[in-house]
Amino acid sequence: MEEAHCILCGPAKRRAVFTRSPAGGEAFTLVRCASCGLRYLSPRPTEKEIGRYYQSTYFTRRTDRGYDNYFAPGTRAQIERLFLLNLEDLGFSEYERSLRGPRRALDIGCAAGYFVNMLAARGWKASGIDISESCVAFARDRLKLDVTRGGYLEKKYRHRFDLISLWATIEHLHRPDLFLQKIHSDLGDGGRLYLSTCRAGGASFMRFFGSRWRYYNFPEHLYFFSIGQMMRLLKANGFRPVACSTYGSGFGRPGSFLRKTADLAAKRFNMGDMMVVAAEKA
Ligand SMILES: [Zn+2]
Repeated sequence: MEEAHCILCGPAKRRAVFTRSPAGGEAFTLVRCASCGLRYLSPRPTEKEIGRYYQSTYFTRRTDRGYDNYFAPGTRAQIERLFLLNLEDLGFSEYERSLRGPRRALDIGCAAGYFVNMLAARGWKASGIDISESCVAFARDRLKLDVTRGGYLEKKYRHRFDLISLWATIEHLHRPDLFLQKIHSDLGDGGRLYLSTCRAGGASFMRFFGSRWRYYNFPEHLYFFSIGQMMRLLKANGFRPVACSTYGSGFGRPGSFLRKTADLAAKRFNMGDMMVVAAEKA
C-alpha cells in the first residue's frame, strides 16, 4: 500500500470522507483534498499490488466491481450504443468530417476492442492498448483488431494520432497526470482527447447515494472527479476542453421505468453521475 496525493494540488491537507470495511475484506478510505475538494483513495494498493484486485473474472462475472459477461453479444451491443451516444454528445461526426488523410485513433484501456472496432468500420486506422490479457486476446483473435497488451506509459508510437480515447479508464489510473502528458505528445496538432469517467460533486445524482454511490468501487477506482476538477486537470496538462456533458442516474434497476425516467432527467438537467469530455491539444 502507498499514500496518494492530490494530483491537482500536490501534497496538501485532506480529510477522510468515509472508510469501507467489508466483512473479510480490506478496509479502504476515501479522502478529500482540503484545498480543491478532489476525492481519491489513500492509502491505496501500489501499481504492482493492484493486479490481484482485478481477478480473471472481472470481465465475465457481475460483481459489485465487474461486468456481466463483457464478451457476450448483448453486452457488446449495449456498449456500442453507449459509445454512439457519447460520440454524439462530443460532436464527433463534425470533427471526423474535418479531418483529411488517414485518420488515426488510439483507445487506451480498450478492453475487448469494441470502440476500436467501431472506428475501424468507419474507415479509421484504429488501434488499442490494454493490460488485460483475455481482452486483448479477444480483440485480436476474434475481432482481428490492432490491439496490444501492455502499459501505455512505456509504449512508443511511430505516428501521431487524431483521436485518443480513455473510456471509463482515467479513474483507474495511479497517475492520470502522466497519462495526459503522454497523450498530449502522442496527439498531432489539433488532435483530440475523448474521455468518460464517473462524475462526483456538483449537482450530480451521486449526492443521493452517499457512501453507497455505484462508482465507489474500491480499490479499482482511485479518483473521483467533479467537472471543475477535470477541467483543471486537462488545462494543467495542455488541453483545451471543447465539449462536456453528463448522463446516468443509478436509480432503480437497469431497464426499469424508474431508471429510464431518472436517466432522462439526469441528461436533461445535467445531473448525470457520468461525464464525457472532449479536449483539444492546445
Ligand atoms: Zn487538491
